[in-house]
Amino acid sequence: LAIGNGNLHGIYNDHVNNNDQRKVMLASDLQTAIEAGSLQLYHQPQTSTSTGMVVGSEVLLRWSHPNYGFIPPDEFVRIAEDTGIINKLSEWVFNKSCEHLVELMKLGIDNHIVSVNMSVHDVMHNGFISYLIRTIERYQLRADMFVLELTETVSVTDTKKFTRNMLELKDIGFCLAIDDFGTGYSSLTYVSKHPFDKLKIDREFIKNLDQSDKDFTIVSATIKMAKSLGLEVVAEGVEDQKTLTLLKSLNCEWAQGYHISKPLPFEAYVEWLDEESI
Ligand code: C2E
Ligand code: CA
Ligand code: CA
Ligand code: CA
Repeated sequence: LAIGNGNLHGIYNDHVNNNDQRKVMLASDLQTAIEAGSLQLYHQPQTSTSTGMVVGSEVLLRWSHPNYGFIPPDEFVRIAEDTGIINKLSEWVFNKSCEHLVELMKLGIDNHIVSVNMSVHDVMHNGFISYLIRTIERYQLRADMFVLELTETVSVTDTKKFTRNMLELKDIGFCLAIDDFGTGYSSLTYVSKHPFDKLKIDREFIKNLDQSDKDFTIVSATIKMAKSLGLEVVAEGVEDQKTLTLLKSLNCEWAQGYHISKPLPFEAYVEWLDEESI
């Protein structure tokens, strides 16, 4: 038994080491990818449930690793957070979002809102807010053209600073959304303590909305609560018409999901917008 345990321990350690090695390597490759501009920023439309009109898009990172191929953003964003390169990554994403927004405006597409995922680390990072301000000024854009989507993936250690920075972002004019609401740390405390304008209901609750009474009750109660708090509601992961109709009947204003469109490369998104408006 002792030997058995020892072996198991050995296997476990190897596993951890392999994971760590992969992490260190991916972190370094990611750094290179940011600098080489080999990341891509996809757009997934968000539409109004009442009119069907496109209000904007959420930008989502895509990374095709030269040796390993496609790596899910969930995985490499986590690595970026753990290794301290998240701020560089988020700056790249924000800058690229500005470029795309300028392109859209050149094509006569105004009033298009871009939702950008931000990490709690970004909000805490000195200099990040001034980077955002500098960048929107450089592209002659306004803060109210952006929604900053935040998930509390790690618990905040310096809550005073976090609150101060959230208020500053709001003062500048950014729209603040609580992402993945109802999962992980993305909780009621988070909503009550910070100046959010929008609430995004996680796909986990939306995907079985038409079959699960429990999920239906949770989603319906969440929408009511959000409205009472003056928050707009976005549902993500809408995969069929039935779900979209249900959400509309529950007065959820915005929807996002494969039923409307999968995330698309920018050029394809522009074409999609063009077809939508006909
Ligand atoms: P998220 O912010 O919750 O983004 C929504 C995810 O749901 C995206 O996955 C999107 O492709 C997927 N999705 C949207 N509609 C549907 C649907 O109808 N069905 C299904 N099955 N999935 C749908 P994705 O692109 O793989 O991103 C995963 C996560 O990675 C994101 O979750 C976000 O937390 C993170 N992420 C992606 N891009 C960025 C980024 O630029 N910065 C940061 N900090 N995080 C990012
Ligand atoms: Ca998001
Ligand atoms: Ca989510
Ligand atoms: Ca998320």
